[in-house]
Amino acid sequence: MGLVVQKFGGTSVGSVERIQKVAERINRTIREGNQVVVTVSAMGKTTDELVGLAKAITDRPSQREMDVLLTTGEQVTIALLSMALQQRGIKAHPMTGWQAGIHTDDVYGKARIESIDTERVRACLDQGEVVVVAGFQGISPDGHITTLGRGGSDTTAVALAAALQADRCEIFTDVTGVFTADPRLAPQARKLQEISFEEMLELANLGAGVLHPRSVECAMTHGVPLVVRSSFVDEEGTWVKEAAQMEEVWNVRGVAHDLQVARVKVLGLPNSSKTLTTLFSRLADAHINVDMIVTSEHARERIDVAFSVHENEWESAKEVIEGLKDELRYLEVLSETGLAKVSTVGAGMVTNPGVAAKMFTSLSEANIHIKMVSTSEIKISCVIAKEQATRAVKELHRAFGLDVEEALTAVPS
Ligand code: ADP
Ligand code: ASP
Ligand code: MG
Repeated sequence: MGLVVQKFGGTSVGSVERIQKVAERINRTIREGNQVVVTVSAMGKTTDELVGLAKAITDRPSQREMDVLLTTGEQVTIALLSMALQQRGIKAHPMTGWQAGIHTDDVYGKARIESIDTERVRACLDQGEVVVVAGFQGISPDGHITTLGRGGSDTTAVALAAALQADRCEIFTDVTGVFTADPRLAPQARKLQEISFEEMLELANLGAGVLHPRSVECAMTHGVPLVVRSSFVDEEGTWVKEAAQMEEVWNVRGVAHDLQVARVKVLGLPNSSKTLTTLFSRLADAHINVDMIVTSEHARERIDVAFSVHENEWESAKEVIEGLKDELRYLEVLSETGLAKVSTVGAGMVTNPGVAAKMFTSLSEANIHIKMVSTSEIKISCVIAKEQATRAVKELHRAFGLDVEEALTAVPS
């Protein structure tokens, strides 16, 4: 008998009718002879609505209480889906994150799973039950409720699949798989049959919201067979797998975008090695994820440092820096929101020069100004104005030969 972990995202469980459809889908997997563990998200836009409620009370809600609030969304879904399964004669057992033994650290709002105690889930499976686990939540060492960050239900699913050594983890969502760009922005995007863990991790980290980055990391580390497929149409999805099994290496496999980027500039810092250490250690202590960093030296004794962060974190980042004013004696701090990051990703880049040049040319021909750049072996990212992001994604998708018609006839060069 196989063991399958299935995850259904917010749109897939967005109404009672859809929850009934999900129950049918799970029923099919059971009838195919599998034990099933299910992970679900909150219904539709519930999480956004809960965030809105908190923001109506305070601009800066405390993280611990925020996590208590947000986890209620998933709790509704596990109860309703369990009822829908029971109505079909299937024994179903709903579990919150802590009941399912999901232990995390205590970084509210973006906690990491430290371990999963699978005893309770296994006991239910042994009783012939389907276990329905609330996604995106766990419990901290002190017994507080935590969340894994927006989109974190994918990570719950993959982590459960890893801990239970499931045969596969299926992520059911509102698109039919992983595409060469977000199909909502680029209608010419093409569904990939498969993608390597490395490329998927890069795309996810760079904003391709179809998978939570840590779910890819977890699948890669633990060798979990992972597939992204549609909740609504019955067709093959995209397998995320080891690169060795892939046929060809593309220059650029996909284009990702992130619309929530902010930039902070600290001007006139003392030019000493201690400056950068102090600056970035304090930001790390405040759990702020810094993305791109650019430094420029001027007049020898002073440097400017610019870095990008998620839009949600720029205020905290600014506060940390303002708190360093006496210690670092910089001249000025400036910040800018309303930015986006567009990126091209492909394992083939490392052996193909000219990708950066092509990317810059394509953006400049479209009159898109590049504010920051960062590169790695398999990606190039540019920060641009948010209102130009859709155009930039479409341009890059076309320039790298990823548009549907071209992609069918030629491997992009
Ligand atoms: P769920 O609620 O099921 O977790 P998400 O909204 O988190 O769904 O993720 C699915 C969405 O990811 C799609 O609707 C699509 O707009 C977006 N997306 C972004 N990049 C990609 C991509 N490269 N391929 C497919 N979907 C993508
Ligand atoms: N409900 C959470 C969110 O909207 C977690 C998830 O869906 O993965 O981010
Ligand atoms: Mg998601």
